Amino acid sequence: MEKFDVIVIGTGSGSLVAKRCAKAGKKTAIIDSLPYGGTCALRGCDPKKVLVGIAHILALNKQLQGKGLSTPATASWKGLMKFKKTFTEPIPGKRENALKSTGVTTYHGRAHFISENTLQINEDILHAEKFVIANGARPRKLSIPGEELLIDSTAFLELQELPDEILFVGGGYIAFEFAHIVSSFGVKATIVHRGEGPLENFDADLVKLLLKASEAAGIKIILKTNVKGISKENGRLLIHAEQEGKEKTFSTQLAVHSAGRTADIDDLSLEKVNVSVGKKGVEVNEYMQSVSNPDFYACGDANDKGLPLTPVGGKEAIVLASNLLKGNHLKIDYGYIPSNVFSLPPLASVGLTEDAAKIQKLNYKVNYEETTGWFASKRLNEPITAFKVLIDNKTDRILGAHLLGNNAEETINIFAVAMNADLKASQLKKTIFSYPTNASDIVYMI
Ligand code: NDP
Repeated sequence: MEKFDVIVIGTGSGSLVAKRCAKAGKKTAIIDSLPYGGTCALRGCDPKKVLVGIAHILALNKQLQGKGLSTPATASWKGLMKFKKTFTEPIPGKRENALKSTGVTTYHGRAHFISENTLQINEDILHAEKFVIANGARPRKLSIPGEELLIDSTAFLELQELPDEILFVGGGYIAFEFAHIVSSFGVKATIVHRGEGPLENFDADLVKLLLKASEAAGIKIILKTNVKGISKENGRLLIHAEQEGKEKTFSTQLAVHSAGRTADIDDLSLEKVNVSVGKKGVEVNEYMQSVSNPDFYACGDANDKGLPLTPVGGKEAIVLASNLLKGNHLKIDYGYIPSNVFSLPPLASVGLTEDAAKIQKLNYKVNYEETTGWFASKRLNEPITAFKVLIDNKTDRILGAHLLGNNAEETINIFAVAMNADLKASQLKKTIFSYPTNASDIVYMI
């Protein structure tokens, strides 16, 4: 049996923890069943954003036809996938070499716990004083017949050819981002969502405008429709759903699971080592330590704490490593976390939505306006742009900011900085922003 001080499972946010432990002189191992690098770099945010880049250019090209542009761009999915590979392919080797050169022992395979402080990985039995669960997430099991006929986001990002039509089951981040990407390549995209409105954590008014923009881009959005099963007939997929009490069937060439993700920890046998698991993942305290077994820590999408977003996992990993090495002394402080849907146009948000502010009965004012006619949108002939900002009437603090439109994903960071620095809206308004930019419009939003 090989003995370690620390064993980390997962090479996304887990890599940082493993490196810090090894640098601090701990005998450290890391394990992954997939290529080294984690979801974000290999199968998520980064490759997705490469695809969004071209989709954005295609959308710009389309909306600027007759405005000085006259040649429609020709897109090549194959060429784009080749370009995408230049980002993802080098990562596993680089990541593993970086870990090894820091002194971390690397393992490949699926681990499971067999007894206290002991796990098995392939034929190896490993023992450690401390464990870090950084397994990430996987598509949620839907428990509906034929769910194996859906492809997941990983397979989508590997598609070598695009079909003529794709249906997305669930209307969240993945559906909207992928639907806009494929739609810009001429694919007929359909989103089937069971709630009244999709993207439920975003501002409802801006989501409505995004739906308009999506439909104008050719994306079909079907709401209040719960997918109950999938079957295959004559080479086509049949999506069986219930729409307000009635049975509905949709036929498509390809269907993608975009119905939520969950911590990828089910087969670890955590019950054998007394690590409690909640609905969202390993139950941890503010030190990122398991609430039931002090020898275990968890970060990223595998724990039950922060939002399942890459920079959140990154921050948790830093806090975790420090606590693991020096004893619990650093509590996680997420602050206000901005989040984006990389649709076309992108939708960005930080802080409270208006619905949340209403529920909390806060005393606030709402600045909400469509900005399609504003210079920053008009110069690119943007189809729909808008903002909504909530400001506390008493404290003059920004409670929430919501942006739809070009560069929303960048501009939202300025609101996040202001909110995290506890700036008053009037203080932010004093700033002279470089002009003309999307940021320079902030002074008119607050
Ligand atoms: P989301 O959780 O964003 O949305 C999934 C939606 O699908 C839910 O609203 C859900 O409804 C609905 N749904 C579930 N089952 C069905 C069904 N059978 N029929 C119809 N609708 C259904 O999930 P995604 O898969 O899009 O993304 C997973 C996670 O990945 C996100 O939470 C996010 O953290 C992360 N991500 C982040 C991105 C970013 O930051 N830009 C991009 C991509 C992913 P209900 O609410 O009723 O369950």
